[in-house]
Amino acid sequence: MSNHVIILHLHELTLKGNNRSWFEKILIKNLSIHLKHLPYKNISIISGRILITSININLIKDYKECLSCVLGIRNFLFAIEVDLNIEKIKDKSLSLFSDINSHKTFRISSRRQNKNYKLTSQDINCIIGEYIQVNTGLKVNLTNPDIDLVIEVVNDKAFVGIEKIEAFGGLPVGTGEKALSLISSGIDSPVASFNLLKRGVKLDYIHFHSAPATSTQSIYNVESLLKVLCKYQLQCNLYLFPLLDIQNKIMDVVDSKFWILLFRRAMMKISNIIALENNYKVLVSGENIGQVASQTLSNIVAIQDASHIPIIRPLSGYNKEEIVNQAEKIGTYKISIEPYQDCCSYFVPPNPETKAKLERIRYQEQKVNLDEIIKTEILKLEKKEISLYE
Ligand code: ATP
Ligand code: MG
Repeated sequence: MSNHVIILHLHELTLKGNNRSWFEKILIKNLSIHLKHLPYKNISIISGRILITSININLIKDYKECLSCVLGIRNFLFAIEVDLNIEKIKDKSLSLFSDINSHKTFRISSRRQNKNYKLTSQDINCIIGEYIQVNTGLKVNLTNPDIDLVIEVVNDKAFVGIEKIEAFGGLPVGTGEKALSLISSGIDSPVASFNLLKRGVKLDYIHFHSAPATSTQSIYNVESLLKVLCKYQLQCNLYLFPLLDIQNKIMDVVDSKFWILLFRRAMMKISNIIALENNYKVLVSGENIGQVASQTLSNIVAIQDASHIPIIRPLSGYNKEEIVNQAEKIGTYKISIEPYQDCCSYFVPPNPETKAKLERIRYQEQKVNLDEIIKTEILKLEKKEISLYE
């Protein structure tokens, strides 16, 4: 009976020195939750890799789907575990070619962690390469093969496999601290959020809506987006805040060109209250410099001025195409292009301010008495939990 396993290679953890085992522990915990519904015997660390043993090879597609979303993993290999004996390695390697069409080309890529083993990686490549060639008639192609047979020699075992899958890399979620991400149902903020998740930061989210003046579609879309992001982070909290009354007060008192900036400042002030109460270290936004006329450096300064805590903008230097490509890759794009009315764009004035002067913005805001209004409006905050497995 073959022991089918998965070997996971980690990303960046090699840089972590003495902290490495702490990062690995969190990654193993994350893995055990991600794999909750799939069979395996054990997850352990072996010489800097993670080994998942006794998997069910009829469920390869499910393991792939699940492990591709675990942040901190660079790639993973479906493999068979073999005793460290070259005859056994030959035998198992050949068995992997049993269904392969004879016109294909192949390469052997060996890696030897156990430097005490008598054969070097190059020796193994030559011995197994020749054996496969003679027994299958397939040709070798070292630069662009159809099949790359990976052989890893780790401790007293060898692992052979032909299916290696690239993952997102980054750091395991939960190894960074906690942040609060401002999420609309557009394309940018889910991608910005993903970029922070990939740095190990645990995110919760806040969405502002203008129901009933706008439909509740944006809330529904945001919940669907968070279901997708939960593929990477498993669980999150969503704060929902009805902004309409605050918006109406702003629109009653202030010149229309300042509306959007004051809406945004109100969002920041409310997010700050939640962040301080719940220990979120920073806010995250999908703002991008120059993408639309209002996303100028002056406006970014005017928005930051309303926040005591730093606002991180992971997409500030991206162009739209890069953001769309990433949204497609992480699975949020299709939901983000669903129609919705955003609480800001719905009330967008004909000539919004593009180069806000701070003193003027602060003066306009005092006219509304925004800080006082927020003290009572904050009671309308709602909180929901969203998780991958309900
Ligand atoms: P997105 O595609 O993320 O909506 P955008 O390019 O449409 O971004 P804006 O609408 O100017 O840009 O919003 C900039 C950022 O402000 C968003 O990325 C998000 O972080 C935050 N934001 C905007 N609207 C909302 C909202 N209704 N609730 C929470 N955050 C919001
Ligand atoms: Mg938007």
